Amino acid sequence: MKPHDFIPFALPTIEDEEIDEVVDTLKSGWLSIGPKTALFETQFAEYIGVPYAVGLNSCTAALHLALLAHDIGPGDEVILPSFTFAATANMVEVTGARPVFADIDRSTYVISPEDIEKKLTPKTKAVIPVHFAGYPSDLSAITKIAKKNHLVIIEDAAHAVGSEYKGIKVGDSGNTACFSFYATKNMSTGEGGMLTTSNKNIYEFVIKNRLHGISKDAWRRYQKGGSWKYEVLYAGWKYNMTDLDAALGIHQLKKLDLFIQRRADIVHRYITNLKNITGIYFPKTNNQIRHAHHLFTIEVSINRDHLIDSLAKMNIGTSVHFIPLHLMPYYRERYGYKNGDLPVTEAVFSRIISLPLYPRLSDKDVDYICENIITIINRET
Ligand SMILES: *Cc1c(COP(=O)(O)O)cnc(C)c1O
Repeated sequence: MKPHDFIPFALPTIEDEEIDEVVDTLKSGWLSIGPKTALFETQFAEYIGVPYAVGLNSCTAALHLALLAHDIGPGDEVILPSFTFAATANMVEVTGARPVFADIDRSTYVISPEDIEKKLTPKTKAVIPVHFAGYPSDLSAITKIAKKNHLVIIEDAAHAVGSEYKGIKVGDSGNTACFSFYATKNMSTGEGGMLTTSNKNIYEFVIKNRLHGISKDAWRRYQKGGSWKYEVLYAGWKYNMTDLDAALGIHQLKKLDLFIQRRADIVHRYITNLKNITGIYFPKTNNQIRHAHHLFTIEVSINRDHLIDSLAKMNIGTSVHFIPLHLMPYYRERYGYKNGDLPVTEAVFSRIISLPLYPRLSDKDVDYICENIITIINRET
């Protein structure tokens, strides 16, 4: 087969509406946080169905402020999966609390409620379920454990904007949830994030701490009618969204359900093409959830690293989500984690590969990717 033009692993869908809105923002003279951020927050809160949404410069910032708002700090332990991006654990670490890694479910790759229970100690204050690939974690079981043990739940919903669990949107379960609009995510503002909550105190804390800990409407101080006066209420951060990000977000949000539908169709095509091939395994799903299909990750029984290299030679970009955090140098050295500590996570990691998945990927691209995977598997077995 002749190599195709390079098929990137991820690509955003940016169209004329987004471009026109950014140009409008540039011409408006208001580039930082302002009216478009406020509009995007209102629309996002409506889409999720929560009272409060706060625009931030990343999901990482949302996780950090969520932990601080819930008073997590030195002496506390927070249970989270090792099978996630660095941000989830790093933000626990920077608060001074200790991240405690739990294993995942073998067939859905989200945190295992049984393993959360095994990792509980008197110091456990919070749990961070990560809705891996857009598949919601088992929130019923996690909520039961949290109630019984007085734990806070902070959801890492970086993959899960638009996901639903038992008919309820992720972000509307009464927990603080953190979303990402990073360039590769289901909807993108380049860089950006959103924190949602139904708790007014959490909202007030986050809205002040995203902007130097100064009073809530301080961003208006340079607008006509804005006041020059402000008060510093906390030693806060600089984590605000800007109107340039929000200009993108307003239009991406309108298209999100269409994006997810196209992603679902692509996943269906992958599965149809690959389901009869020996040595390929798909994650399980179920009809109690709506999957946002942020990632399409399969397991293979051939050497995964070879598969990645062979696909790269055929101009196909792929990735691995995730390299377990407990095996990263920092967490190994700091807490003494070693191979074998999280057997399911490690077994899954050794076999997974994430395939290209985004609305701009054509059916022909999907077929080309599948033909190459089949050829490589046939060659190696
Ligand atoms: C992308 C990602 C984040 C971080 O998002 P940013 O907006 O880039 O800070 C956090 N958690 C998970 C699981 C992610 O994939």
